[in-house]
Amino acid sequence: MPSFNLTDTQEMMVATARDFGRAVLEPAETALDKMASPTEAFASETYKKAMAGAFQLGFHKMTLGQHVGGLGLDHATVGMVWEELARHGVGFAASLVASSVVPQLISFLAPDNKRLIDRYVVPFCEDTTGTHLTAWGSSEPAVGSDGKRYHDLSVHHRTAARRGHEGWILDGEKSAFVSNGGLAKSLVVFACTDKSKGLCGSGAFVVPADAPGVVRGRAEDRLGMRALNQASLSFDAVAVPDDHLIFPPSDAYPMLHHAIVTVGNLATGYLALGLMRAAYEEALAYAKTRVQGGKPIVEHQLVAKKLFDAHAAIESTRALLWKGSWHTTESFPGDLKTSITAKILATRNAIEHTTAMVQVLGGYGITRDYKLEKYLRDAMLLPIMDGTNDTLMLQVTPLL
Ligand SMILES: Cc1cc2nc3c(=O)[nH]c(=O)nc-3n(C[C@H](O)[C@H](O)[C@H](O)COP(=O)(O)OP(=O)(O)OC[C@H]3O[C@@H](n4cnc5c(N)ncnc54)[C@H](O)[C@@H]3O)c2cc1C
Repeated sequence: MPSFNLTDTQEMMVATARDFGRAVLEPAETALDKMASPTEAFASETYKKAMAGAFQLGFHKMTLGQHVGGLGLDHATVGMVWEELARHGVGFAASLVASSVVPQLISFLAPDNKRLIDRYVVPFCEDTTGTHLTAWGSSEPAVGSDGKRYHDLSVHHRTAARRGHEGWILDGEKSAFVSNGGLAKSLVVFACTDKSKGLCGSGAFVVPADAPGVVRGRAEDRLGMRALNQASLSFDAVAVPDDHLIFPPSDAYPMLHHAIVTVGNLATGYLALGLMRAAYEEALAYAKTRVQGGKPIVEHQLVAKKLFDAHAAIESTRALLWKGSWHTTESFPGDLKTSITAKILATRNAIEHTTAMVQVLGGYGITRDYKLEKYLRDAMLLPIMDGTNDTLMLQVTPLL
């Protein structure tokens, strides 16, 4: 039976995330949420200072090995930190989650390629300015949930790679939902190299975001998680050297996607857990002081039931996420079934209970003077992130 006692490192990392979250992320996230223009938000000092602070504490490099300058933390510890950061700023936390994907993929898939490690991973780990965000582009305008159709010629804009004189040439477009798409310095791009081989004719390429032919879309103006930059990426004859193909096309390509979903779904689940906790903790504090009918509303049974249900959802969601992290630590990348189930449970619960917590505040729950309406808007994005819940559920039910 795995222990539920936190190690000293876990206690320290969670406390650091809590203090930083309260002091820096929460005010920054609230301010950015209120800015009407995403372009203005991502150019603001508020955004830059908060992201720099996160990098200075090493939250961008938690999973990377110490030999490349990372913190080398285990997956359970990293999950606990994602929960705590998301408790105070789910948009910033999502950006940090996405940002670590590129150096992680390079370290995992090309650990002996010193050129790639020195060019992309080490500078990422050394960065204390918060400007070294990275992004990974999988979904496309016409290929969202249906990632098996990259090779399909009938699909417009699909991203394809062909041989150049030296290396590879990429053309195509990734969807407007690429996390950090408008800001990233380096990218991992999934592209089809041989349509005759179907899905297994695709590979994963590292692409410097300033390479000639890379064009970023404007930052999407979205319902929630407004501290997370999302933008399209397009590629017009973008040349990359041979060794930038870090996962060559092979029958193992679907396994790469499974591994990314297994690790990514857990991270999204922790974001949902942190967000749900934020809504619950704000509503609980309010319910203890708001007096109606001659007593604090927490003493009205139906308000108490809403708070209890949220508390129970937080505890049970966290237990399943920890089980998923345990699988990932035991045998990387972990258990696909547990990760997907935990992500669906966490994101469903986040919507259900942020909605209920808005009701606990009554009319004040829908005003912008309180944080609840923001949490509800933020929660709406999470079931779509890292695969929609419906398509993930269809993927996992044959494994039950
Ligand atoms: C916060 C956030 C962060 C993201 N970050 C990234 C990122 O970093 N990189 C990246 O590449 N992408 C990213 N995405 C994109 C995300 O993975 C896609 O948006 C998602 O897969 C859905 O694609 P789509 O919007 O094209 O919807 P569609 O695929 O068009 O789906 C529309 C609807 O149809 C349903 N549907 C689709 N196919 C089926 C089916 N076979 N059976 C039943 N129902 C189906 C879906 O469930 C959904 O309800 C992000 C999205 C969000 C919201």
